[in-house]
Amino acid sequence: MDLSVLFYPKTCPFCGKYISDYQIRVEHTDWICTDCFRKLPRTEQDLTADNSTEMALLDGASSLSAARKTMHLVHAWAFLHYEKQHLIRHVIHRMKYSDQPELGYWMGWQAVMSCRNEDLFDGIDVIIPMPLHPKRLRERGYNQSEYIARGISEVTGIPIDTTHVQRIRNTPKQALQDGEGRKTNVAGAFAVNHPEQMYHKHILVVDDLVTTGETVKACLHAMRAFRGARFSVFALCKAQ
Ligand SMILES: [Zn+2]
Repeated sequence: MDLSVLFYPKTCPFCGKYISDYQIRVEHTDWICTDCFRKLPRTEQDLTADNSTEMALLDGASSLSAARKTMHLVHAWAFLHYEKQHLIRHVIHRMKYSDQPELGYWMGWQAVMSCRNEDLFDGIDVIIPMPLHPKRLRERGYNQSEYIARGISEVTGIPIDTTHVQRIRNTPKQALQDGEGRKTNVAGAFAVNHPEQMYHKHILVVDDLVTTGETVKACLHAMRAFRGARFSVFALCKAQ
């Protein structure tokens, strides 16, 4: 037995309640208590096509079915709604800026465990976490999307690839940009390596937070070099 638990019981960083022994032992988390986790706003997008994450990726197409064809999009969904006033904001902040990437891993793991549509991961060959520019990666020390991807990979057994897509421009933070600014901000921000190794794969792109979808679209655009590939997109959160 780990005696330190007796002297330093784990508490939830969001509400201060003790985290149950069950949650630590069985669910392998001491990052958030069960009550707070249940309060996180689920999107139900695992069950709905034409959802707000897919709509964000429309890319000027006249319809979602047209966009699916031109972008080779299979399905896009987010696990949680991002709301500024909500606890989820603090969760994302901890994951990204408070050096707690394991929270992202656990969230990715939970997203798959609570997904009610088993088809969503069927036939996916590889997971590509949204890459960070090397400079930002150095500053932060980790890529939060890669941790989310690792949680997904743990449950599904789908391998992760971090070598075929790179972020080649260190763009200003998307949150600071307006609509048009977001678009030009990320245009040409990504490049691919050895595209021939990705031909005809079904790729799951994983991001932490999708807002207007411009970053994901720019990444998908670069991956058009993967001939015959199809794409699914998973975001931990979708902001309105
Ligand atoms: Zn809590």
